[in-house]
Amino acid sequence: MNVPKLAILTLALALLAGSALPAAESGRPLLITVDDLPVAAGNLHTDPAERERITRGLLAVLAKHHVSAVGLVIWGNVKTEADRGLLRQWLAAGHELGNHSASHPDLSRTVADAYVADIEAGRAGLAKFLEGEGSRKVRFFRYPFLDEGDSEAKLDAVRAYLAKSGQRSLPVTLDDQDWAFEQPWVEASRKGDRREMERVGEEYQEALHVSIRDQEGRGDRLLGRPAPQILLLHANEVGAAQWDRLFTWLEGRGYRFAAADEVLADPAFAGEPRYVGSSGFGLWDRLTALRRAADARSAVEALLKTQSEAWNRGDLDAFTSVYAEDAAFVSPTGLTRGRQQVLERYRKRYPDRKAMGTLTLDVQETRPIQGTEVTPLGDARPGRVHGLSVVARWKLAYPDQPDKKTAEGLTLLVLRRQGETWEIVQDASM
Ligand SMILES: [Zn+2]
Repeated sequence: MNVPKLAILTLALALLAGSALPAAESGRPLLITVDDLPVAAGNLHTDPAERERITRGLLAVLAKHHVSAVGLVIWGNVKTEADRGLLRQWLAAGHELGNHSASHPDLSRTVADAYVADIEAGRAGLAKFLEGEGSRKVRFFRYPFLDEGDSEAKLDAVRAYLAKSGQRSLPVTLDDQDWAFEQPWVEASRKGDRREMERVGEEYQEALHVSIRDQEGRGDRLLGRPAPQILLLHANEVGAAQWDRLFTWLEGRGYRFAAADEVLADPAFAGEPRYVGSSGFGLWDRLTALRRAADARSAVEALLKTQSEAWNRGDLDAFTSVYAEDAAFVSPTGLTRGRQQVLERYRKRYPDRKAMGTLTLDVQETRPIQGTEVTPLGDARPGRVHGLSVVARWKLAYPDQPDKKTAEGLTLLVLRRQGETWEIVQDASM
């Protein structure tokens, strides 16, 4: 990896120069964000004394590592004066609080109006509380389940509301499953089973290391440089016990804990990717998915351009070479199966260069066929683009035959990836 080497080099240069660089100048910036305040998995922690103990534990580790975190509050879980007291402790320790909705709805399973009403209730409740504390406004919103919507319409509706209400979506670049360790940890801890606690703790660390390394690599490849990161953690009991070790590992990896404003000022966070899907992914996964879709689109557009050029020089062999061996071609006159048969059909209908005219293909829309793949930890992330469907307008013009009218129509193509190339498997032309 480049980063630790770079950090060592920086340190070595600083030592050579006879003065250590200020800590704030070196290291890759990392923002710590903590979801589901006041206490995550609240049904496991109903005893106010336990909630207090967990909060103190989390804040102690953050203080030890000089972390300025953003805590995301589920306002519907702030039920008592004691809960408000927990939030006051976060503020007193210098952390910022943001909105994480009122009831933690999943956007893909909620209609947009109800979702917006819920997250506005979360914002309003938190804003009133912060006002009473003389604290800053609600600047950040974190999507529950990192689900930003399964349709363009939902994406737009929620983004319009966030913009209007002055909240910025706080992305996650290092997504993980820390929450999944809470129940086994609490069960072992209540039984006083030290060995089991140790085992769960080891698994927690290993799982987070795998997730962090994996997404770190993705971000670096995407940006072409060490990407700044935003880690997602939850305000839970296993975290209070495990964060110190995790943060020490992160520091050893070359990270420097940075505040929200510094991290978010990086150009990597300037735009919000328009990834539509029902699963919540980290930012690098979303951007990778969009880049793959864009790459597939340009590869297919280039293929269609090559195909038009082949047609326009009268080369039907080259024109049909992009059809799959078993391609299906549908036209108003029927169904043709197989590349060879498609070629013969074209030869019959366009016996010479003069009959072929000049072809232009204008792509009207493309849709990638992209599912999810499973990570080594069993989590989902966007998969490769295996196919692409294209709607295009075709036009055959006969500029040197004034008596012959331009023909035009639409075509729906389905293409499949074959290694690094693409082939047409279905073509419906009308
Ligand atoms: Zn949450």
